[in-house]
Amino acid sequence: MKAAFYTLGCKVNQYETQALGEALAKEGFLIVPETQEADVYIVNSCTVTAESDKKTRQAVRRFKREHPESTVVLTGCMPQAYPETAAELIQADIVAGNRNNDRLPEMIKSYLENKNRTVSVKEHENDETFTVCSISSFDERTRAAIKIEDGCNRFCSYCIIPYARGRVRSKPLDEIKKEAQTLADNGFEEIVLVGINLSSYGTDCGLTLCDAVKAVCEVERIKRVRLGSLEPDHMTDEIIAGLKAQKKLCPQFHISLQSGCSATLKRMNRHYDAPEYERICNALRSNFEDCTITTDVMVGFAGETDEEFAESLEFVKTIGFEKVHVFPYSQREGTRAAKFPNQLDRRTKQERAKAMADTANEIRRAFLNSQIGKTVEVLAETKAEDGSCTGYTANYTPVKIQNGAECSRFYTVKITAADDDSCYGEII
Ligand code: SF4
Repeated sequence: MKAAFYTLGCKVNQYETQALGEALAKEGFLIVPETQEADVYIVNSCTVTAESDKKTRQAVRRFKREHPESTVVLTGCMPQAYPETAAELIQADIVAGNRNNDRLPEMIKSYLENKNRTVSVKEHENDETFTVCSISSFDERTRAAIKIEDGCNRFCSYCIIPYARGRVRSKPLDEIKKEAQTLADNGFEEIVLVGINLSSYGTDCGLTLCDAVKAVCEVERIKRVRLGSLEPDHMTDEIIAGLKAQKKLCPQFHISLQSGCSATLKRMNRHYDAPEYERICNALRSNFEDCTITTDVMVGFAGETDEEFAESLEFVKTIGFEKVHVFPYSQREGTRAAKFPNQLDRRTKQERAKAMADTANEIRRAFLNSQIGKTVEVLAETKAEDGSCTGYTANYTPVKIQNGAECSRFYTVKITAADDDSCYGEII
């Protein structure tokens, strides 16, 4: 039996696809790319925006249309948040949610035997504990993700994720360490820790993010540890000091901003304002040498005035982010903000997204150019047909090595040029 995955969304979903794939392989399935013929197609969905839902629906319908004899499975955040809408997608033979992931191989095997359509989305519960799953490999060859946390307690007014993921729960430290050791034994030298609200790690069990980072850093063959997206107000002086003590931690921090305007942040039910955010960035930059800060910015939130948008844009320039992911606000049914007055039209959101992205790209270009002349350490990751190899520095600056590098090796590289997306350099 062959099974193929189509994964939408964040690194947590990618991790869960890997874990599900390994669980299915143990049951005798061969995992193949989704472009190939398979007996089972699994859509691991995302529901963060209306666009993600659209892609999920399209994928489910496409797999059934192109492979009518196959079994199509819909799982992940979309059915978890909107089970009734998901159940209506009749092209899916199995509809499950991320809460059912540990039972999914069993559900698939049972469907293959009796062919009874199964719709079973188990709801999240407040006292739920972390469902331990683990991986031994990852799609990317040099860097593997470890999911250390699930769920979110924050209920930002625009976000459906707490409904799709339940409350904060943390992976036990010994499990994290064991998984990092397995990945290191399988050749991974770089680990990225991910979660739904990563910086909440440990709040349910008396630990902190620093404990999880330390557990991975203690694995001898791991050379670099990175962190996924972090909430600014979780980055207290104590946490920053604890992270600084871990020498393998890369000086690259993705600190979720959403808006640079304090009034907008308040309506979003974010737990910080713009001055506090700026203070945290300054603290990170003064504690970590060559530190880069990246972020997400939402534009066109309900009621965002021209002045508020201008303030947000100005703030992005003030911080000088090394990279920004810009996205327009998407109304999600079931959230408070979906009912807020003064929703913006699509065109205004798109214009703001473009203006914000143009500003962010200009800052990034200046940053990449400022790296020319520096000597950096690069872990080479992917090889192009022309023989060049792309990799990343510790602070996640992309570097194309032009003189004969091999993947999965560290090189000392002199940066000689840069363009809009990357630096270029030569091994010295
Ligand atoms: S912190 Fe806010 S935006 Fe992030 S997952 Fe939680 S509710 Fe959503």
